[in-house]
Amino acid sequence: MSATLKGYALPDDRGYFGDYGGSFIPEALQKIMDDITAAYADIRKDPEFHKELAYLYKHFVGRPSPIFHARNLSRKLGGAQIYLKREDLNHTGAHKINHCLGEALLAKKMGKKKIIAETGAGQHGVALATAAVLVGLECDIYMGEVDIAKEHPNVVRMKILGANLIPVTRGTKTLKDAVDAAFEAYLEDPVTQLYAIGSVVGPHPFPMMVRDFQQVVGVEAREQFQEMTGKLPDNLVACVGGGSNAMGLFTAFLGDESVSMYGVEPSGRGLSGGEHAATLTLGKPGVLHGFKSYLLQDEAGEPLPVYSVASGLDYPGVGPQHSLLKDLGRVRYVTADDRETIEAFFTLSRTEGIIPALESAHAMAFAIQHAPTLDAGKTILVNLSGRGDKDIDFVVEQYGKKYNV
Ligand SMILES: *Cc1c(COP(=O)(O)O)cnc(C)c1O
Repeated sequence: MSATLKGYALPDDRGYFGDYGGSFIPEALQKIMDDITAAYADIRKDPEFHKELAYLYKHFVGRPSPIFHARNLSRKLGGAQIYLKREDLNHTGAHKINHCLGEALLAKKMGKKKIIAETGAGQHGVALATAAVLVGLECDIYMGEVDIAKEHPNVVRMKILGANLIPVTRGTKTLKDAVDAAFEAYLEDPVTQLYAIGSVVGPHPFPMMVRDFQQVVGVEAREQFQEMTGKLPDNLVACVGGGSNAMGLFTAFLGDESVSMYGVEPSGRGLSGGEHAATLTLGKPGVLHGFKSYLLQDEAGEPLPVYSVASGLDYPGVGPQHSLLKDLGRVRYVTADDRETIEAFFTLSRTEGIIPALESAHAMAFAIQHAPTLDAGKTILVNLSGRGDKDIDFVVEQYGKKYNV
């Protein structure tokens, strides 16, 4: 590991990436987090664990996911060549299965009986329910009643997979209330359960641990890209909700100074109106859900309501390592709005035959704008974090007319 990479990548003993991260939780929960940190430190050194995870990545998830040279799109745009890391081809359709399998295996090693989590749009719930079945754990998923009504296919998937879906009826009956409910349930029984956080967020060790489980994306991509082109990519692009798919891709390239990196946040209906989730673009440091990071917050430090056409991106916080990478200037954080994202969704579908998740379409939107500004010899590698099947009904209902569907 190069000196530069080390400085960017490792949290200190208390889980800080520079000023960000750490652990801001009740004392009772801190003891549990310390146990998880210790257990993770053990398995991180355990070749058996890595062997098992590598086996599941290959034979269950279908890794390595390929890199695809988007020739039609590159030709149409002019400028840099666009390549896609195809996380959409993973079993369950996105990158989330990478860290859910890691968390489920960790829970099993720790002797836990059950794995629990909240879910918003249901993507994390489905990936976790899948991992739980495979590893042999019970699975409780907390989900707001409003989201349950909206996300029917994922609700059905979780039930088919045998997860207990627990409707959350308090407050706004959406993601934030589901987080609160899941946290309370966890506090009641932290001994037999493990709370599996869905991104590189939460108290230490989760930002580090989820990042480590996702870094397979970048490790593969680095090798595959060099094999295909003889060089490293000039630019990396990934969407940023909590930031796990972006960290997964970026980590393997942090020490490569020739590689520029872009994290794309959702500017929703526009940065000026408050209907967005551009945390690193407009937020300020604060504490939420047990960790310190950039945060969209009001004057009292309460999290602001957030919005994006991609429900996997509407989170008012962001992984602490991204906050450090922003301050260091190592990664540039940019935005794509709903309109640009929907346009990119159809552009990729109709030039390459790949329907992207709306989250991933944010990364595509930036790449589509950026490519024509670069020389023809340059390259852009986009993390295509997930497939768009989950989004097609919504897109057709909202935008079908404009795009002749
Ligand atoms: C959940 C999700 C995201 C956002 O999560 P990150 O932690 O920021 O990666 C992005 N893409 C897809 C397809 C998702 O399901």
